[in-house]
Amino acid sequence: MLQSFQPVLERIAEEMAGLAVRGRPADYIPALASADPRRFGMAVAELDGTVYGVGDWQHPFSTQSVTKVFTLALSLAREGDALWEHVGREPSGNPFNSLVQLEYENGIPRNPFINAGALVVTDRLHRLTGDASGCLLDFLRAESGNQDLGFDRDVAASETERGDRNAALGHFMASYGNIVNPVPTLLREYFRQCSIAASCADLALATGFLARHGIRADGSRLLTRSQAKQVNAVMLTCGTYDAAGDFAYRVGLPGKSGVGGGIIAVVPGRCTLCVWSPGLDERGNSVAGVAALDRFTTITGLSVF
Ligand code: GLN
Repeated sequence: MLQSFQPVLERIAEEMAGLAVRGRPADYIPALASADPRRFGMAVAELDGTVYGVGDWQHPFSTQSVTKVFTLALSLAREGDALWEHVGREPSGNPFNSLVQLEYENGIPRNPFINAGALVVTDRLHRLTGDASGCLLDFLRAESGNQDLGFDRDVAASETERGDRNAALGHFMASYGNIVNPVPTLLREYFRQCSIAASCADLALATGFLARHGIRADGSRLLTRSQAKQVNAVMLTCGTYDAAGDFAYRVGLPGKSGVGGGIIAVVPGRCTLCVWSPGLDERGNSVAGVAALDRFTTITGLSVF
């Protein structure tokens, strides 16, 4: 077993610096479009909270859909299996913001990691707590130990301005009775959630409960062992949208990406990772991020397979 992840991270950062194709940052809002695709950071957190990092690993970036993992865990912890009456757990094979399956599947989204599914999960969490985004932020602060984590108001405002498609998803599902809060309230909560800024170090630490089979940083239990397994399984099969098959093939770990260029990944029982580089491929996954995770599992042999 490796004594330290630092040498492997440095080797990967060096390789990624030479990557010829880096993709393009998301351009639907100004805050993401202005990100420099040459930036790269990567962190590994061990189960006890020891963190190794390289490059821009302490630089906050827009977490976006990476947060969908945490809202799922927080909802599942409160609602249990009843959550699955409102959202499925099959890969969609469609882009993350697609509307197409919703009509013939009666307003029940395929999985919690496409936008439609995440809207449902946020709706459930908001119904149970009255403060879905606040609950998520408290959780991320507690797990990362970083009380400075917060919402990026500019990003949240731009998301709202460009939010027609998410609004369409919300209203459409409400027409099937699968959204209980007023849609504008739900959208506010969802966009706040997307806007949270955090670093690779913060997110690697915050993901730790999934490597510790449901146990939080303070030793308390968030999820049962079985629920932690379930969240990891849904990450593996659905966490990178219509590229989840290729991600599983290349990386071999449960992972979740966001259009800010971040990806979190879990080696159950061993460690968690977060990588950030803003250049995306056409499916919305970080090019250097996927390449770096591919190299990590190839070099270390750490994977679920
Ligand atoms: N804010 C983005 C959206 O809702 C998040 C999508 C993502 O990261 N894939 O469209």
